[in-house]
Amino acid sequence: MRSSGMTKWVGPSPLAALSAKAALVTETSVLTLDLDALASNHAVLRAQAGGAEIAPAVKADGYGLGAALVAARLWDEGARSFYVARLSEGLALRRALGDRAATIYLLDGVTPGSAPAIEAARLTPVLNSLPQIEAWNSHARGRVLDAALHIDTGMNRLGLRPEEAVVLTGAMDRLGHVNIDLVISHLACASEPGHPLNAHQLTRFTETAALFPDARRSLANSGGIFLGDDYRFDQARPGISLYGGGPRDVPDARIKAVATLEAPILQVRVMPRGESIGYGATYTASQTTRVAILAVGYADGLPRAAHPRGAVWFDGARRPLLGRVSMDLIAVDVTDCDAARPGAMMQVIGPDLPVDDAAAAAGTTAYELLTRIAPRARRVAKGG
Ligand SMILES: *Cc1c(COP(=O)(O)O)cnc(C)c1O
Repeated sequence: MRSSGMTKWVGPSPLAALSAKAALVTETSVLTLDLDALASNHAVLRAQAGGAEIAPAVKADGYGLGAALVAARLWDEGARSFYVARLSEGLALRRALGDRAATIYLLDGVTPGSAPAIEAARLTPVLNSLPQIEAWNSHARGRVLDAALHIDTGMNRLGLRPEEAVVLTGAMDRLGHVNIDLVISHLACASEPGHPLNAHQLTRFTETAALFPDARRSLANSGGIFLGDDYRFDQARPGISLYGGGPRDVPDARIKAVATLEAPILQVRVMPRGESIGYGATYTASQTTRVAILAVGYADGLPRAAHPRGAVWFDGARRPLLGRVSMDLIAVDVTDCDAARPGAMMQVIGPDLPVDDAAAAAGTTAYELLTRIAPRARRVAKGG
């Protein structure tokens, strides 16, 4: 009996058969998350941080790599506190961590209307302003709820200015339902050890945090961990160097690649001397050139600005991009490279093409490159 104009499909779906086959062939870009490399970077940062707790930043879905997998592995490596930015990220992470008793710090703090959801998910807000502290205090009413406090020491983004922190200490008996058990600040120039703002922020942080003698203290991000003992305090909050970016925005031999983005060759062709390639005809062959066309483009997260300095890695060498990055395709010079055949995978980011270098070639940072890898890239995890 048919209740609508649609025919019910009986028997194996041709689409299911197709997707089973598709799983065997690699027809899209593939993003591989190396969980053992993640654990190795965590160990490097932990050693570098001395005795400070490592509280990973897993905001933006673990810098685009998958916060649930990242946090679960780092929990196994001993991490007990994590940082997210958005409430939605905190709720998702709490669900993903299940019954693991992790502390999840919410960097956005108590945004209007969010207090009940924050408490229900047992998130710890990082309070960024006097009104946010008031909001958390009035939500808490008869109880005492934990919070972290963000002091702005020179970035002028989120957080109380030091003079507001002084005001706050004068009002604490009125705000008795908030227990500030951690004071944080964030460095603006941690990847530049010689920048004078680092020492300035350190001084301001040390002075202002002293107003809250019972609270633990946290200042360092990835770069901050490498600025010296003074910057480590009780807790460090690394993000990018867990995920394979160097603490100084350039590759660091101690930090392993965690994300590998690869793309298959769709076609290999010969471009005669004098012809151009791609949109805008920006590249003209000065000699007969063998070209591999790859199934990756800006819709996969490879920035369009990777032209003209970008490259991929294949068969032991960097191979330059030829012409503009398209939505779905790039062209790569494989002259004298016999291994270039349809179906072979080329590395766009990974152990042989560090994310910092790939980012620099596109005029951006490892942070932006990683967080922009698009859903079209098939995601695979490897490692314990
Ligand atoms: C993102 C973030 C971090 C992590 O910074 P990395 O440079 O990725 O190590 C630490 N603290 C705060 C407040 C952040 O927003």
